[in-house]
Amino acid sequence: MDLVFFGIQGSGKGTQAKTLAAELKYYIFEAGGELRKIKASGTDLGELVKKYIDNGELVPFEIIMEVVNEAVAAVPDDQKILFDGIPRDEDQMNAFDKILSDAGRQIRCVHILLDKDEAVERIKGRAEIEGRADDADQEKVLRRMDLFSEKTMPVIAEYESAGKVIEIDGKGSVEEIYARIKDGIADLN
Ligand code: ADP
Repeated sequence: MDLVFFGIQGSGKGTQAKTLAAELKYYIFEAGGELRKIKASGTDLGELVKKYIDNGELVPFEIIMEVVNEAVAAVPDDQKILFDGIPRDEDQMNAFDKILSDAGRQIRCVHILLDKDEAVERIKGRAEIEGRADDADQEKVLRRMDLFSEKTMPVIAEYESAGKVIEIDGKGSVEEIYARIKDGIADLN
């Protein structure tokens, strides 16, 4: 069973996803990380991708879906995948579901829940520590959070009604949240 991680910016999603993937031997697909590699590639595509990332906007559908498609195709059938940062809207969800079903893969979702106010506070700290350009600009972070609420929450709701979502309380320490996630997915394999 593959996993798809969801959570508002600042929820700790990325950290938790990385730790879990390393411990339980999931191949991790990080949409933002893959796109940042393209951004840094010095190509025309990189320049295009940079504009979206730096503005906190979603990179165009075709670009991200191509990256996902190639990644899934390259992973052996018996290797579990943890997806972080995909799908982010309804169109991506439809394409993503098709890629996975064509590959004979099934998913469960982990949604780390956190209030927007608390998420904003955490992001302020993270911007200082990690120095990520798109986290330094508060306005762009808020834009990404709005996109999460408007575009990604409906995706989570759909997976929820299909009974595929494990909800995790995102308050507390990194260790506490990690323990909740491990508990939540304990019955999967
Ligand atoms: P965050 O979750 O905090 O927004 P990410 O590292 O996941 O951080 O994403 C950084 C940026 O990469 C996003 O703001 C967006 O520009 C781009 N991106 C990431 N995932 C997607 C996606 N699924 N579709 C389109 N763009 C994406």
